Amino acid sequence: MAAGVAAGGQLTTTTEIENFPGFPDAISGSELMLRMREQSLRYGTRIKTKTVNAVDLSKRPFKVLCAKETYECESLIIATGATAKRLDLKGDKEFWQKGISACAVCDGALPMFRNQALAVIGGGDSAIEEATFLTKFASQVYLIHRRDQLRASKAMQERAFANKKIEILWDHIPLEAIGEKFLTGLKIQNVKTKIERTLAVKGLFYAVGHVPNTAFLNGQLECDETGYIKTVAGTTRTSVKGVFACGDVQDKIYR
Ligand code: NDP
Repeated sequence: MAAGVAAGGQLTTTTEIENFPGFPDAISGSELMLRMREQSLRYGTRIKTKTVNAVDLSKRPFKVLCAKETYECESLIIATGATAKRLDLKGDKEFWQKGISACAVCDGALPMFRNQALAVIGGGDSAIEEATFLTKFASQVYLIHRRDQLRASKAMQERAFANKKIEILWDHIPLEAIGEKFLTGLKIQNVKTKIERTLAVKGLFYAVGHVPNTAFLNGQLECDETGYIKTVAGTTRTSVKGVFACGDVQDKIYR
């Protein structure tokens, strides 16, 4: 695991990928990543499954520092992606992995969530994807969104509206996770009326966006104010010659 994500990255935690070219019948995220791995092996790539703790980009060869070994290289491509965010919610630490998760695909099928009411927070494509996935197991899924409009694509919105197990709670924010040993409820508030109530839910799934995985760079590359690596427009070049960046770690718009 690196930044809470298994080798293969964010796509290993997604279900059906319907918008990747060449797969007209969709493909699962983990299957797609496995195929990419096999494709790179076919061209002679040597894959080291390690967590990188730090890099030294002060001079060539660059150094890539893992727990036990250090690798040297003349060029470096950074494709470390981004990690799902958690909310600083009262009760979050207490019930994290005891009902609270940031990955429905990883945890949704657990027996503790079967035939239970569950909640998803967010209004983007991830939120709808997670909510839809959870309806396979849950008795009901509340989609809690802080505004009166979803950010998700139209196709995903329609999927949510058509699913009878999904109830969208517009203009709501979570206030507190409640339970004893495990999560049993979520206190929420309507931001317009200020009315509070408690939903009896056994699961709470965050789908509130991502943070780029750039902490290990320790400021050696130019990043924007939210930590995404800056690249020269139209290229993958970073502020250090010989170091390149691609994917979600340098793109928060198109991803
Ligand atoms: P987004 O940034 O699109 O959405 C995050 C959602 O979380 C927003 O609705 C936002 O609300 C809400 N949110 C953020 N912070 C808080 C907070 N503190 N409290 C309450 N709500 C909060 O992230 P996604 O992960 O959904 O999507 C990222 C990208 O990946 C998008 O480009 C998306 O299209 C893509 N994607 C595509 C999928 C597919 O095609 N199958 C599946 C998943 C993702 P608000 O809207 O008010 O800002």
